Amino acid sequence: MQPTAIEMQQNIPLAPLTTLRIGGPARFFCEVTSEAALLEAVAFARQQALPIFVLGGGSNLVVSDRGFDGLVLHIAFDRPIVPVTVGDRIEYAVAAGVEWNTFVLAVCEQGISGVECLAGIPGTVGGTPVQNVGAYGQEVSGSIASVRVLDLDAMQFVDLPAAECGFSYRRSIFNSTHRGRYIVTAVTFRFDPTLKPRLTYADLIRHFGDTQPTPLDVYHAVREIRHGKGMLIVEGEPDCRSAGSFFKNPVVEQAVFDRVAATLQLAPDQVPHWPAEEGHIKLPAAWLLERAGFVKGYAMGKAGISSRHTLALINRGNATAADLFALRDAIQQKVKTLFGIQLEQEPVQLG
Ligand SMILES: Cc1cc2nc3c(=O)[nH]c(=O)nc-3n(C[C@H](O)[C@H](O)[C@H](O)COP(=O)(O)OP(=O)(O)OC[C@H]3O[C@@H](n4cnc5c(N)ncnc54)[C@H](O)[C@@H]3O)c2cc1C
Repeated sequence: MQPTAIEMQQNIPLAPLTTLRIGGPARFFCEVTSEAALLEAVAFARQQALPIFVLGGGSNLVVSDRGFDGLVLHIAFDRPIVPVTVGDRIEYAVAAGVEWNTFVLAVCEQGISGVECLAGIPGTVGGTPVQNVGAYGQEVSGSIASVRVLDLDAMQFVDLPAAECGFSYRRSIFNSTHRGRYIVTAVTFRFDPTLKPRLTYADLIRHFGDTQPTPLDVYHAVREIRHGKGMLIVEGEPDCRSAGSFFKNPVVEQAVFDRVAATLQLAPDQVPHWPAEEGHIKLPAAWLLERAGFVKGYAMGKAGISSRHTLALINRGNATAADLFALRDAIQQKVKTLFGIQLEQEPVQLG
């Protein structure tokens, strides 16, 4: 691999690089655009005994007011999005720094189904396998063939087949068992070009009625629905200064579900829920928040809840991480007291 010049910057504010626009600086910061540069930057961190944080689009991230006393590697790998026919499948090997929505649009424009329901999710391609992003009935793991990573233990680039990535709801080895071990440099997606969009989500089924939409039709419909919910990044809209859903939908045991129903004096079928793995029950976190009094438009100092989506905590303007954490803690405490459920934060916390 050719040696490459990396530019190591210091004291770089991280807030502008996140969708929440919150948080302090990185002591060291390096934008990496190639695997060679990545190796060099990691070597620098190791020489200086610095912890490393990998930053994509900053859309699933809350940075503390202190910032990060280490090296932030900003993943900016880029290359053209090119479909390749492999047997009866279409594959795309996409660089980690490519904007996710740009890739989704390119696939939909080819008439290929598989990621159209994930339109409008902010961030990078490399960020998507980390929490196995999902929306409107699709998860990115359904289209991933392999993930190319730098293995920081072995200091080697390897291609991990999807089966080795441990994908489940908002989870993969990258954010659980092997957190911090791998840096994603590219993702290979594989599609069956004969498939048509299969809609499972009520909003989309309503939108299209009996017609069979193309992937591009679904792409536009999803973006429109997301916009209505403040879940599309639109410059200047205050509801967009969020990290998306702030809490995961809790998966609970039957006894906890019964307690929720009893506390609210509701029959079990009046409590929205879905079956989950191993006889557990998944509850909508947004519904729990609303029952606990945390409704759309709720404000607590400079932090608040989006006026269009109960699960999106927002920066109402010049909020600090402390403001946001105060709101988060108040929500978690009330939901725990009322229902015995510990809500889990979805965005990654740095510093
Ligand atoms: C308005 C809004 C709507 C959203 N809607 C959804 C949604 O519908 N569904 C959903 O699942 N998510 C949603 N999100 C969350 C977020 O967009 C996704 O999780 C996204 O994939 C994060 O990618 P990113 O590049 O911004 O990652 P970042 O926020 O930069 O990083 C998130 C985590 O991934 C790690 N990471 C990022 N890139 C790499 C890499 N190349 N290698 C290794 N680790 C890496 C980081 O270290 C960090 O731990 C939403 C966010 C916002 C702001």
